[in-house]
Amino acid sequence: MSLNPAESNDYEIVSNHHFAEIRKSNTSGQKMLFSLSAFLEGSSISPFSPAFISEKASYLTVQIANKKHIALHPYFLQYINHGCNPNCFFDTSTFQVFALRNIAVGEEFTFFYPSTEWEMANTFNCYCNQPKCIGVIKGAAYIPEEILKNYKLSNYIKSKIKYRQRKLKRA
Ligand SMILES: [Zn+2]
Repeated sequence: MSLNPAESNDYEIVSNHHFAEIRKSNTSGQKMLFSLSAFLEGSSISPFSPAFISEKASYLTVQIANKKHIALHPYFLQYINHGCNPNCFFDTSTFQVFALRNIAVGEEFTFFYPSTEWEMANTFNCYCNQPKCIGVIKGAAYIPEEILKNYKLSNYIKSKIKYRQRKLKRA
């Protein structure tokens, strides 16, 4: 989730990770990841790999398959929060985070959680203040396809949508 613009200066720097830094909001206590480099649309921001794989989702994991949820390595990528107008994407086929558009120095990284999460363990209300904010974030399974089609989705989420379409046709 992004902060309100009024709060955007109200944070402290927690730690530095070459191209990014973790900042913590002094008002909400929430940690966020900000870019220290500029990235061009389509370029790789960081590779990632599983720190471990779990059958169950948590609020820190990324889903790569049915009952396969990974904790992120490097760990600081877990502070990339949800946004309904995301600037990055976790590609769970190539294990690269890449830029969905040009990202400037000092911009907060955000990704669209339902682009990898089918049904989330922890649902929450999004306050990203984007014009097309979808509100309650519960996972791709709960979002109409006409909204999902506006987002880049992982191959896993695409396969879940196709599977559901086939099941609906048979019913
Ligand atoms: Zn939102």
